[in-house]
Amino acid sequence: MSGPVSCTATNIPLTRYGSSLRKQMKRLETPQHARYLCTFCGKKTVKRVSVGIWNCRRCNKTMAGGAYLLSTPTASSVRATIRRLRETVGV
Ligand SMILES: [Zn+2]
Repeated sequence: MSGPVSCTATNIPLTRYGSSLRKQMKRLETPQHARYLCTFCGKKTVKRVSVGIWNCRRCNKTMAGGAYLLSTPTASSVRATIRRLRETVGV
């Protein structure tokens, strides 16, 4: 065995990457069209209007969020920090 062995070896990871990428894209599509819990009225009526913009159909509030998900890990960690700071100050 010589020559074509290196060619086959490079083909394997390329195929794997392509299929996993397709799976990831499919996973992103579902939450982006789903309804989310509104922080103002508590109903599951928040829908994505455009990238990063979310609107509640019940109380008609527009809010900024993640590009594909209403709550991003960054947003929830910021919220937790604010809550902790508020408790420390005692307001
Ligand atoms: Zn609402």
